[in-house]
Amino acid sequence: MAGKLSFSYSKMSTYQECPLKYKFRYVDKLYEPPKYFFAFGTALHKVMEYLYSSQKPPFPTLQEVLDFFKKDWESSTWQEKGYESAEKELAGYDEGFIIITAYYQKFCKEFFAPVSTEFRTTVDFGDISVVGIVDRIDYLGGGKISIVDYKTGKKIKREPDQLMMYQKLLFGNKELEERVKACHPRVKNIEVSNMLFLHLKGPEFEQQRFSPASDEEMQDFWARALGVADSIKKEKFDANPGEMQCRFCDFKKYCPVWNLDKSAGRDFALEQQPQQEIPPAVQEPQNPLDKLSILADRYGKALKEVKDLEQEIISLMRQEDINRHFGKEFEVNLTKIKTVNFKDRKKTLDTLKELNLLGKTVAPTLGKIKALLDDPSVSDGQKEALSALADFGEEYKLDCIKTDK
Ligand code: SF4
Repeated sequence: MAGKLSFSYSKMSTYQECPLKYKFRYVDKLYEPPKYFFAFGTALHKVMEYLYSSQKPPFPTLQEVLDFFKKDWESSTWQEKGYESAEKELAGYDEGFIIITAYYQKFCKEFFAPVSTEFRTTVDFGDISVVGIVDRIDYLGGGKISIVDYKTGKKIKREPDQLMMYQKLLFGNKELEERVKACHPRVKNIEVSNMLFLHLKGPEFEQQRFSPASDEEMQDFWARALGVADSIKKEKFDANPGEMQCRFCDFKKYCPVWNLDKSAGRDFALEQQPQQEIPPAVQEPQNPLDKLSILADRYGKALKEVKDLEQEIISLMRQEDINRHFGKEFEVNLTKIKTVNFKDRKKTLDTLKELNLLGKTVAPTLGKIKALLDDPSVSDGQKEALSALADFGEEYKLDCIKTDK
């Protein structure tokens, strides 16, 4: 790979997961459907940046912070965020609202102006440009600073690699020194004395603290980081299949590990890929419950594949600005549907009352008529009369959710 390599912690961790995934993502730049957990994390990071943006009091009020979150959240659709439905996006919004409120209430008494939020720095090491964006840098006094990285996922315990990379990038950083000296002119040298992951999940907001890496630890870490960068420069992109990395990988259709006897993905498959071991043929289970477990997994995977395909098709059609397209056997049509949602139900109902429109909304929908049959305020005679009009039948609804293992 000629020229400078732009390198970062996320690139390093992707490569360590699977070098081929790195290639698909950063070299081939293949499409990946949006992920709701990234959208959620980004929204909370923006809120924290806004909250700590003031250089001196007054800091934003809780209402201002919530308004900021709402405006930002509503600037993209649930599809763009990667949620499965508008309901799930709404649940995400509610979760964010609760986290922000709890965070504000827990920390508002100790708000302060940090040295920097979203501090971006690039440091060149030979032909490798390492980029880091530090969520927050706090000044602790006496030239000491603390590095804070926000986390929003379920995982709480982490290795300090990411913080060690920031420690390395901030060492002797002139821009950071100037920022600190602008407020504390007597400070001579800046040093990282504390590093932490702050888990943005209420109500504890767990903090995982680390002391700065010693010279020896840093040497080891840096040798590892540069080793990864060197392998990328040498274009060593072998697949590293495994339960965790493959399970959530969007590139299976291009990956030779998953397409051993298909032509799919040949454009991307590396000819030098070692022959992968073919898993032994699975015997059809005799026990119906075992068979059901297999079918449930197949059904769940097929549904996920359908959803991913739908997102990919919509995204490409929007990108190409077309609303109809033909495959060899099927055509796809894209129709824009206007959606309306009233998030503040109480306010909406009050407004309907004020406008004298409430009566119009209580329409005799099938669901409401069915509910009358179980309504204790409806007499038996009325229920009988209604039942005489009804066709009673049975239907089955199958839901599929991913099991948390
Ligand atoms: S499917 Fe697995 S082996 Fe293939 S690129 Fe993705 S993570 Fe790597």
